[in-house]
Amino acid sequence: SSAQIGVTGLAVMGRNLARNFARNGFTVAVHNRTAAKARALVDEFGDEGDFVYTETAKEFVAALERPRRLVVMVKAGEPTDAVIKEFAPLLEPGDMIVDGGNAHFADTRRRERELRELGIHFVGAGVSGGEEGALNGPSIMPGGSAESYAALGPMLEKISAKAADGSPCTAHIGPDGAGHFVKMVHNGIEYADMQLIAEAYQLLREVAGYSPAEIADIFRTWNRGRLDSYLIEITAEVLAHVDAATGKPFVDVVADRAEQKGTGRWTVQIALDLGVPVSGIAEAVFARSVSGHTDLRAASRGLAGPAAEPLSDKEAAAFADRVEQALYASKIVSYTQGFHEIAAGSAEYGWDIDLGAVASIWRGGCIIRAAFLDRIRAAYDARADLPSLLADEGFAREIGAAQDDWRAVLVAATRQGVPAPGFAAALAYYDALRAERLPAALTQGQRDYFGAHTYRRTDREGSFHTLWGGDRSEVEA
Ligand code: NDP
Repeated sequence: SSAQIGVTGLAVMGRNLARNFARNGFTVAVHNRTAAKARALVDEFGDEGDFVYTETAKEFVAALERPRRLVVMVKAGEPTDAVIKEFAPLLEPGDMIVDGGNAHFADTRRRERELRELGIHFVGAGVSGGEEGALNGPSIMPGGSAESYAALGPMLEKISAKAADGSPCTAHIGPDGAGHFVKMVHNGIEYADMQLIAEAYQLLREVAGYSPAEIADIFRTWNRGRLDSYLIEITAEVLAHVDAATGKPFVDVVADRAEQKGTGRWTVQIALDLGVPVSGIAEAVFARSVSGHTDLRAASRGLAGPAAEPLSDKEAAAFADRVEQALYASKIVSYTQGFHEIAAGSAEYGWDIDLGAVASIWRGGCIIRAAFLDRIRAAYDARADLPSLLADEGFAREIGAAQDDWRAVLVAATRQGVPAPGFAAALAYYDALRAERLPAALTQGQRDYFGAHTYRRTDREGSFHTLWGGDRSEVEA
C-alpha cells in the first residue's frame, strides 16, 4: 500500500484529475470498471508521475495507504451508488470516499449518512473547470466532515487552481451535501451568466446592427474592464470563429437549440423549495427550454412584430456602452440571487457556509471565474452577515449608476422586439426590492376574499379577515 490517493472512473474527468495528482507529486492508484482505460492511462502518461495500475477493486483498495482516500469520478446517479456498493465493504473506518461527480446534494446527504454508519467519510466534492480544469487546476467544492477535510484538504489545495493572489481555489464548504449544493448553484449562476451574455450579443446584433466579428471585438474590450471573465473571453473566441465549410460566422451555422444536463434546473427547483427568488437563473433555464421547442417556434414565426429602427454608427456605439451597463447590472443581480440561495440552503441544512470563501474559490479554475468574484469576496469580508450583495455599498453604487442605461436597453429591446428575459428579470427583481410598497397587499386582499386566508395590517399586530360576503366588517382571525 503505497498510493496516497486513488481515482476510480477514468473517463475525461477522472483521467485528468489522476494526472493532476501525479504531476503534483502524489502517488496515484488508478482503477476503472473497464480496466483497459487504467492501463492506457499509465501507458500514455506514466512518465508524468507515479501511478499504480490496479485491475480489481480489491487491488485498488489494497494499493492505498491508510486512511484511504478514494476519489470516484463516474457517471452521476446510479453508477455512483454501484461503485460505493462495490468499494464500501472493502474499506475500514476512517477511510474516505470522495465523489467528484455532479451528484444531486440530496443523494450526497443520503450517501454520507449511510457511509457514516460504517465509519467511512463520504465527501461530496463539486469539481468545476471541465476537462482542462481537471488537468491543470479546477475549482473544488468539498463537503463532508471537517475531519475528512483535514486529511484531504492539503492534497486538494495542491491540485486546485490558484487565484491571482496565489490562494487555492478550494476550501471546506460544510458538512454532508454542502459541497455539491454549492456546485449546483455555481452551475445555476453559470446558466445565468451565459444567458445574459447571449442577450447582450443578440441586442448588439439586432438592435445595433453589429456583425459577429464586430461583437467579438466589443466583448474583447469589455473583457479588459469590470466584466473580465472566462465566459466573456470564450464568447469573443466563439463569435470570431468562422465556419470552414461555408465561410460564414460559426454562430450562424450552429442550430439555435440550447441543451442542458440538469444542474441549472436543480438550482431552480431547490430555490422554489427554499422560497428563494432566483428569477434570473430561472429565465436562463426557460430560455434554453424555449429554444428547444422548434415546433412551437415554427408555428409562431408569423406573429406580428415591430418595424425595424436601424441605428446610426454613433447611436450603435452609444447603445453598446449601455448594453455593457445592463449586462453588468444584471450580473450583479444573478450573483445576488445565487448567493441568497446558498445562504438559504446553509440555514436550512445547518451547513454554516462562509459565503466569502465560496466567492474566493470561484476566482480561478471554474467556468464562472471572473475578476468580479474578488469584489464579492471583499463584500463578505467587510461584512460576513451581509443580507444581500445589493446591500453592499460598492455594488449598490455601481448598480445605481447603471440603472438608467439598463432601463434604456430594455426599452430598446422591447421596442424592437428582441427578447431579453434575463435583463428584464434582473431589473424587475431590483425594482421590486427597492419598492416602498408592493402589490402583494392586493394579492393578500384577493386571497382573503376568495379563501379567507387572512392578512396582516401595517398599523396593528394580529391576523385579520374581512367578511367579504357579508357586511365587509373586519374581524380578528
Ligand atoms: P462520464 O460521466 O461519461 O462517466 C464515465 C465513467 O463512468 C467511466 O469511467 C465509466 O466506466 C464509469 N461508469 C459508468 N457506469 C459505471 C458503473 N455502473 N460502474 C462503474 N463505473 C461506471 O465521465 P466524465 O469524465 O465526463 O464525468 C465524470 C463525472 O464528473 C460525472 O459525474 C460528471 O457529471 C462530472 N463532471 C464532468 C465534467 C465534464 O466537463 N465532463 C465537469 C465536472 C464534473 P467504463 O469506462 O467502464 O464505462
